[in-house]
Parts: sequence; C-alpha cells; structure tokens
Amino acid sequence: MRDRRKWIVRTEKRNHVSLIINPLLRPHLTTLAATVTAPLITRFAPSPTGYLHLGHVVNAIYVWGIARALNGRVLLRVEDHDRIRCRPEYEAALLEDLAWLGFEPDFGLEPLLRQSDTPFVYEQALEGLRATAHVYACECSRKDIGGERYDGRCRGRGLKVATGRGIRVQLGNDMEKFEDALLGRLFQLPAEQCGDLLVRDRDGHWTYQFAVTVDDLRQNVTLVIRGADLLSSTGRQILLARMLGRRNAPVFLHHPLIHDDLGEKLSKSAGDTGVRELRSRGLSAPEVIGIAAARVGLVDPGMPIHASEVSRLFEQRVLPGP
Ligand SMILES: [Zn+2]
Repeated sequence: MRDRRKWIVRTEKRNHVSLIINPLLRPHLTTLAATVTAPLITRFAPSPTGYLHLGHVVNAIYVWGIARALNGRVLLRVEDHDRIRCRPEYEAALLEDLAWLGFEPDFGLEPLLRQSDTPFVYEQALEGLRATAHVYACECSRKDIGGERYDGRCRGRGLKVATGRGIRVQLGNDMEKFEDALLGRLFQLPAEQCGDLLVRDRDGHWTYQFAVTVDDLRQNVTLVIRGADLLSSTGRQILLARMLGRRNAPVFLHHPLIHDDLGEKLSKSAGDTGVRELRSRGLSAPEVIGIAAARVGLVDPGMPIHASEVSRLFEQRVLPGP
C-alpha cells in the first residue's frame, strides 16, 4: 500500500524542518491514561469554512476512538472565529454529515458550542491577560511583517487600541517542552517561531490561537487530538494557556494527515474525498470511515468500520495493525 502519511513537521527553530521517522500510529493507551489529568475530555472542533472531507474523518476516528478506549468524553466545538470565511450552510452540513457518519458528541448539541456566540468570553480573557502580561495594539499588516514571525516593532509604541489595529501579547523567551502522545518529547520556542502573539486581528476578529486556547481552558479540555499540520502551534498555545492561568496544560496528540495524489494536504474542495461526494456515490458510513482509516494506515483497505467501533482501532491487540 502506498504510504500517504507525511511527518515532516516544523520544530523549535525557524526554517528548521525535522523529519520524524516511524512515529507511532497509535498511542500507548496505559501511558496516555496516566498522563491526562482526569476527567479525560477531548474535542472535535471543525471550522465551518467548507464541507467535511476524509481528513476530518481521520480526526474523528482518532478523537472518538481514543476517547472511547479510555472512557473519556468528546465535546463538539464549532470554530467559527473567522467571521469572513465561515458560513451557516457549512455548519449545518458538517453537523448533518457527522450524524450520518455516526459520531455522537457526549455533551450533546444543545447548546451548540460556537465561538461566535461568546465574544464576551474572549473579551474577559483578554482583560485577564492585561493584568499579568504586556498587551499592546499593533498596526502592522501581514505585508509589513512579511513572514510568520512578528518582530515586536509596535511593542513600545504605546498605540491606542482602535479600529484597524490588532492586539498582541508579548511572549516570554521560554522554551516549551511537551510530550506528544505519538511523537514523543518536543521542544518549541514560540518567541522565535512567531514572536508576540496576535490575539485579535486588524478586522476585530479573535485569532485561532487565542480563541482555541481560551476554549480549551474554559471547556476543561484535557486531551487535544489533532492533525500534525497544527504541531507548530502547540508550544505557543501551552505558553498562552499558562499566561491565562491554566495550571496543567492539556496533553497533545498530533496524528498523521492524509494527502491527495499530488501530495498536498486535503482542502475543502477536494472533490473525491468529500464526505458528501462519497455519500452521493452510495457508500455507507462504515465504508467511508474504513477508507479514512486505511488512508492513514490504521487498517488495510476495504474494511468497513462502524463509528461505534473505532475504539477497536486503538486497542492494539484487537485489530491487527500494519
Ligand atoms: Zn506592529
């Protein structure tokens, strides 16, 4: 079988790319259970900026599979902080597709945990941050910054918070160490990677980094299970969480991604990998889950898997892995 897994990830240094060879495909459950602070709560947190595709299904397999294997619970969060790209029809479609697949959140869907419904939560978190950290207005555009790292040029300017200006928080120079449940011990230096973190952008929108860190804290998420494409964000989220008053960082698990035939990460428009497209071709939910699981190598191709049975993929002795 062609290996579609890619494990090239950025680590602590800018422009430094490390290739992690032979990562685990499944976490060691006993170790993971011992590492996570009880109660084990994880989340499935899609953004309604497009339809669900096989990449989301892989994430759902890991989220529900590991939560079920460890008697944890799953919450569903709609990450719609990006008010420009999110659309209500995508939200309705992702809830419908998820129900069709058979993945049920343990905290129900009423009320739906939707970021755009709770701006005051982020306001409040920002106020808390002001008390203990240097929070400042920044008028730089993406073009002014010209890369991933912000050099802090507005840090000492004393600009007033105003329309058209972003808000940043100064980061300390601490090296963040964390133990990924699949990748092992990792080190990241957020001040070098990204510089002072953007909390709210120039259009007045809360950023992904800020909203997700606040939500993981207030919703008591103790295990974050997500794709390896988000690995470079982890150190800065652990640091920000600590600045927001979080005592125990969540445990992180970054799983492999599936790629299209050109080796690119699946996008929203990935035709033949969309859950809706596969449904319209007559595939059943267990067949779609089986395809996603096979694409990352959790099972051999052609094995349908019911959503209620995904925990078996992580209980190593039950299903033979590749
Ligand atoms: Zn600036």
